[in-house]
This record gives sequence, structure tokens and C-alpha cells, in this order.
Amino acid sequence: MNINLLRFLIAPIAIYISVVIINISKFDDVFFVAAIHAGFQLILIYGLLLLSKNRVYRLVVVLFLSMSVFIQLSYSTRLSVGTIMSVLGTSPSEAYSFITFNFYALIFCFIISLAVFFGPLLTINRWFAPLVFFVGLSYLYIPVVIDSFDDEDALQRQVYINSGVARGYPGWYAAMEYYMIDRAVWRMPSISTLRAMTDTYFLLEMQLDTSSKWEGVSALNADSQLLVLGIGESLRADNMGVYNYPRNTTPFLSKNENMLDIFPTVYSAGTNTYGSVPASLSISEPIPNLSLSIINLAKDAGFKTYWLSNQAKYSSWDFSVSTIAEQADYSDFPSNDEPGVETDEVLVDKLKQLLNDTKGEHKRLVILHFYGSHMTFSDRYPPSFAKFIGTAPVIDEYDNSVLYSDFINQEITEMVVQQKGRYMFFSDHGLGDPDGAMPLRHDLREKVALSSLKVPLFTTKPNQLNLKKEDMISLFYFECIFSQWAEVDAKQLNDKEYCKNALNQKVVTYIDSNLNVKIKERKDFLN
Ligand SMILES: [Zn+2]
Repeated sequence: MNINLLRFLIAPIAIYISVVIINISKFDDVFFVAAIHAGFQLILIYGLLLLSKNRVYRLVVVLFLSMSVFIQLSYSTRLSVGTIMSVLGTSPSEAYSFITFNFYALIFCFIISLAVFFGPLLTINRWFAPLVFFVGLSYLYIPVVIDSFDDEDALQRQVYINSGVARGYPGWYAAMEYYMIDRAVWRMPSISTLRAMTDTYFLLEMQLDTSSKWEGVSALNADSQLLVLGIGESLRADNMGVYNYPRNTTPFLSKNENMLDIFPTVYSAGTNTYGSVPASLSISEPIPNLSLSIINLAKDAGFKTYWLSNQAKYSSWDFSVSTIAEQADYSDFPSNDEPGVETDEVLVDKLKQLLNDTKGEHKRLVILHFYGSHMTFSDRYPPSFAKFIGTAPVIDEYDNSVLYSDFINQEITEMVVQQKGRYMFFSDHGLGDPDGAMPLRHDLREKVALSSLKVPLFTTKPNQLNLKKEDMISLFYFECIFSQWAEVDAKQLNDKEYCKNALNQKVVTYIDSNLNVKIKERKDFLN
């Protein structure tokens, strides 16, 4: 074949490879059908490229495509607010470990981008470009139009539009997003990029005023109180000895099961810090309303509030966790913008000092935000905790970080009990099952595995909690657990029996990486 004609294959082949990667889950089913879908998507993207010779326009199309490929390779999912925040909400050192971890994926996407950007395009006659584009567009939208006459679709559409309006969009916009993006995304996964970007923009714009909106706050306990709440990082219940993991990664918790209340069936509010922590610490409607945070609640009930964190203070993208932290009367981020330069021991020291300095205060709430088992796992513990060896290195290192977190929890529990305070600990989310599709990684897929949500929750006794051991707990409603534990109440917690319903559920409620609230039975999760 003529070498000049072969040049015209460069761009289509690169696009086809990209599209196959983006659609990789479809290839699990019927290979032949998936290959045809990929073919039509190639036609659509090629048609888009043909529409204009403008270099900037072409660059935008190329970036959309390669970004989708990269997110698929690094997170096995489509782009969403959650993935954007995860990529951008990292400190320089985290970014470095992320890049080295995904080095080959980055190189690969770069090569694909070059091929699509510089590959010559076929121009046969003036009808060719519109024709190719029209065929691609028909593939995308004819099924959407047909489905829109379906009754079942009407219900789904209403649910989608309602949730869009609840996110703060006008109805017409939510409807347009439904047809143009949500319904079409199966046939063109890269299109979700658009929604991810509008959601991100919208989120960064909103909630400038987060002063307390709690009403009718009452403190049921007039006595002096010390409450310490620990929030763990990426700690999977299934890798903890006390939750039946074969390795004894939690010697402290396992030995003191009788002195503590350890809850066996607890699910996190999300699968990444960004989504999960705000959803746990405030009422979500469905986006976390930071005005209705537990910090504001405690302050209104007469507590002095303190936030000690071993995570990054800013990145501006991390703003909703930082926003809650800043509501506290006092906050301290000893690691500043380089989380992980210190182990979590730094928070033990800070707490000891704080409890000394504030001894005379009547009511104190201290929140400790650990760096726990954040990747890179081997950096999370001192060498003396490198106890587990022999399985895959990454699992060994993860388990060592769990062991270290158990030790930190022991130190804090002993310190708080000695001061006659209460300590409670939960983890912000788990990670994927080591044997599963997202081994020890953030599970930001649209359909998450239940084990990614399964996290520890324990308290010292007595804890004032009106929970039974067999209860299924969704930390999405943590504000309700907090109100029992801290013995504070407010109107919003009782409106329409909010907390009564929240703590008595047979389903798991969490916020997914698109910030949609999902309510599911356990059997409906991926394994
Ligand atoms: Zn996290």
C-alpha cells in the first residue's frame, strides 16, 4: 500500500485504541458487539476532528480523549468530580507518587495525543466531514430519542432532574444534561468529562457562607466533657484483625474488645476523602451543607472546638474539608502542604499539648484527621512497624500501616480515657479489595464494591450511643451518631424524624464520585 495513504491511518488507529480502552468494560460481554460500538465512537470522534481545521479546537478534542483514556487507565472509571478532585487535590509530594505510579499510562496517553493531534485527516470532498459527523451523532442520539418515548425513562428522567435541581442547577439545564450527557454517556464515555467539569466549577463556586444554620440547638449534658474524634484515612475494615482479617494487624483493638464498643457493620459515606469527609461531618441535601456541620453544632452547644490534621491544609481543591476545619475555634495542620512528611505520631504529641493547654475549659471537642493508610503506604509508619512480610509487598506495607494506626489509636485512647473523656474513631473510606478490580486503590468507579466502603468504627465506653451491635451503619449520617455521642440535639436532626430514620436502615447510603447520593441494598453492590 502507498506509504502516503498509510499516514492517514495514524489518527484513526490511535483513536480506535483509545476508544477500546475507554470502553474496556463492554468487552467483558460480547467482544464483537463492543468492537462495533468502538467503531462508531471512532467515527464520531473522527467526525468531530474533521469539523474544523482550527488547531486549538483540535487540541481540545485531543485533550478530552486522552484525559478519558488516562482516567480509565489510572482509576478504571470515567471522569467525575471525584476523580478531578483526586487528581488535583494532591500536594506536590502526592502528585509525585501518583505520577510515578501511573508513569506508563501518562507516556501512553501522551503518544496517543501526539498521534491524534498530528495525524493527517482524510478530506475527500466537502460532504465527507458533515457526513462522518452525522453518522457518529446518529449513533449517539438516535437511541436517546427513541428511549425518551418510553414510560420507564420518564421516571428516571424525573429523578435525574430533581437531583440536578437539588445540586443547584436550573431545571432546563438538568434536563439538557440528562439528554445530552447522562443518556448518551454509555455510548460515548468521554462525554462525562463535560458533566465532571460543570459539577467541579459549580462546587468551587458554592457555599461561600458556611456559618452555622443549626436551629434549636440544646446540650443535654451540662457536665464538663472532653470529646475526641479520630478520622482515619483509607483504612479497610477487611484488613483489620479485629474485623476478622487473618493477620493480627490490630493488637490493641483485638485485646481490648470488651473495653471498647466496636461496631461490626459500618459503611463509609463515600470512597474518597473529598466526597466522604464532608458528607460524614454535615447534613447532606444531597450535597453536604457545610453550614450544618458537626463543628457548628458543637459550637452552638457550647463546646470549644479544635481541629488537628496531618493532611494537607490546602490545595484549594481540598476546600470542603478545610472549610469545615476552619469552622473550628482553633486548627492546626503541622504538616502544612506536605502531608505525610510526619507520621501520625505528630497528632498524638499535638493532642497531649492541647489537652494540657486547655485543661480549665468546660467542654472540648477535638477532631484528629489522620493520614493513616494513604498511599504511599510504606511512608506511613516508622521502620519498627514493618512487621508483616511475605505476601505481596504492597499488601505487607498496607498492613504495616494498619498496625501503626492501631498503635496510634492505643496511645490516644489511653490519653483520653485517663482524662475521663470519650474517644470515637472511624475511617473516611476503605480501598479496593486486594484481590479485586481496584487492589488497594480508591474505588471511584460508578459501581463500587461494598468492601471499599466497609470501615471501622469504635468508641470508648460509656458512649451514650443508642445503637445495637447488629445495626447497619451508614456514616453518611454520622451527624446523627455524633449528636447522640456528644449529647447535643437540634431541630434539623428531628425534622421528619431525620435521625430516627437515618440510623435504622437496612440499606447502605453513600455519595458516589459524581456526588450523587446512592441508596442500595448490600446484595446490589459489586463483589
Ligand atoms: Zn481518604
